[in-house]
This record gives sequence, structure tokens and C-alpha cells, in this order.
Amino acid sequence: ETFYQKTTSEPTGAFDISLRPPVFSEFIGQDKVKERLLLMVEAARMRGDVLDHVLLSGPPGLGKTTLANIIARASGAQLHTTSGPQIEKAGDLAGVLTNLQKGDVLFIDEIHRLHPAIEEYLYPAMEDFRLDIIIDSGPSARSIQLNLPRFTLVGATTRSGMLTAPLRSRFGLVNRLDYYTHDELAQIVERSAGLLDIPVTPDGALQIAGRSRGTPRICNALLRWVRDFAQVRGDGTITGPIADQALTMIEIDDDGLDEMDKRLLEAVIYKFQGGPVGLSSLAVAVGEDASTLEEVHEPFLILQGFLQRTPRGRIALPPAYTKIGASPPSGPQP
Ligand code: ADP
Repeated sequence: ETFYQKTTSEPTGAFDISLRPPVFSEFIGQDKVKERLLLMVEAARMRGDVLDHVLLSGPPGLGKTTLANIIARASGAQLHTTSGPQIEKAGDLAGVLTNLQKGDVLFIDEIHRLHPAIEEYLYPAMEDFRLDIIIDSGPSARSIQLNLPRFTLVGATTRSGMLTAPLRSRFGLVNRLDYYTHDELAQIVERSAGLLDIPVTPDGALQIAGRSRGTPRICNALLRWVRDFAQVRGDGTITGPIADQALTMIEIDDDGLDEMDKRLLEAVIYKFQGGPVGLSSLAVAVGEDASTLEEVHEPFLILQGFLQRTPRGRIALPPAYTKIGASPPSGPQP
């Protein structure tokens, strides 16, 4: 497991929660998304109405759960949290839905992983606040209808492409979260450091920001590591050089690439002659799950210009060769 995976796959810890901005004004970046959500919340409040359903998509650690919390709080609603894989049977969904009170926010994380049969129960629930369930089976099977209170569904997904069209169309607002800029991440580092009482110089904050792969959850995790390092090897203050040494020690390079990212680039270049190579072959070559490569590693490598996705597979771009110290191929580029 790489540091990145540990920080993103770990169940949300107390550390994460204590650093979670509770209100829109403390949520840094994603300005367009924030503006739209604020407007929606405000409009619903003026009408005394329940907020429309919202979909949030984007890679892990960019703030989807945080926004769901903020939305609930801003509309004075109670938040209920579940996830696609947790809802195994129609009865599980019925249990969750019948527990809601008027105006509550139901957050379903990884909503693209809902079972298709269960997803169908969600359509009338979202649209008409109605649940049709079948009880019994065989000749005595019958359907009963339950009226649900008006509620707001906030769905989160790392893969908006995998959401079915009928589900997607039932959201009033669909938002995509983007990777954060270094500047925004530096602000997040400074905010978190302030909450944790860690002295950090602007240079130190930027060092951490630049190596966080555009992801707030990672910058908080790196901050935690650098704090320890600064205490033992320095005087407790996070300066640029201290942050640099600390992050080099756990093999996070200047661009924030970790071991798995580099292994992936090496595989494309050395084992597959620079590509094109299909996702599943690549997954076998690096010993990682295809969906993790696709959701976590690739988007960042593509954004940074190391990798390109083509219809015939993935290809390594010249910066990837430089990154791993290989000489770029001569002759025409693919
Ligand atoms: P996701 O649900 O998209 O995986 P989270 O909402 O759990 O991501 O965010 C991970 C952590 O990153 C949060 O606990 C929070 O501390 C921090 N975070 C996320 N977005 C922001 C932001 N815009 N400003 C400040 N901190 C943030």
C-alpha cells in the first residue's frame, strides 16, 4: 500500500473530521460549485421548501462528504449517511428512507455502486417521495406504497460516467469537483495547521501543497507526517526545507507522485514500450486493482501530462520518461 492509498482508503478518522470545514465560508476553493449550492440553499429557504437533490462527483478526498455535511447544516437539516455498497437489499434502502424526517439530507456515497435493482426503487422515492415495495413472493406477492417525507438526496461518486442516465437525470444539480490549485491547497494547509496549533511558514505550506496531488485529504495527511518530522528533526516549525526533507523521506516527489504512480509509468514505458496498453494488462503488471488505477492514479497522471488515454490504451508522454529517468523514444511520437 502506498501512502496515498492509506490516506484515501482509511475510514475517515477523527483527524479528518476535526479538520472538516463546517460552513461554506471555510470551504476553500471549488468556487463555482460553492456558489451554486449556496444559491440553491438560499432559494429553498426563501420558499420554505426542501432542497433539490444534488450529485457531487470527483476523485476521492476532494470534499464531497464535507460538502454534504455543509449543505445539511446550511439548510438546518439532519444528515443521514450511507453508501452504495452498504445498501445490499431493497429492504436496506426502505429502512434508510423510512427513517427520514421532512427536510432531512440523505447522503449516499459511492452511489454508482448501488445495485441496479435497488436503484429502481430510488427513482420514485426521489421524484415523488414514494416507495413501492413488493412483499411476499409467488401468488401472494403484492406491492405496497409508502409515502415518504420530502427529503434531499446528496449523491457522491468517484465515477460520474458509471452513473445510469435515469439516476443522473433525477438530480436537480450535478456538480463536478476539480483538483485544487497549489494556492488553494496552501490555504488549506494553513487553515489545518492553525486548528492544530502547528507553526508553518508560507514556504512550508506551499511545499506540502505542491506535493498533495491537488487533494485536500492528502495535504492534511502530509501535514500530519511533516508535523512529526518537524518536532523530532527541527524545532517544531514547518519550514520549506523541513517539509521537503520530511516528504522526501516517505518518497513523495516534487510533483506528489508516489510509488504506485511511478510503478505505473515504469510499467507503461519498460514493459509495454511506452504503450498503448490496456488498463487490465497494466493492472496485472503493477499488481493493483484496475478500478483504483482508473479512479485514483490515472486522472492525476493525465492531468499532469504524464499519461494519455487513447482508444487503443494508455500511452506514456515525454515527461513520463524524464520523470523515471528513461530516455524518450526516438522517432515519431504516437
Ligand atoms: P470525499 O468525500 O470527496 O472523499 P472529504 O469530504 O472526506 O472527501 O474530504 C477529505 C478531507 O479533506 C476533509 O476531512 C477535510 O478536512 C478536507 N477538505 C476537503 N475539502 C476541503 C476544502 N475545500 N477546504 C478545506 N478542507 C477540505
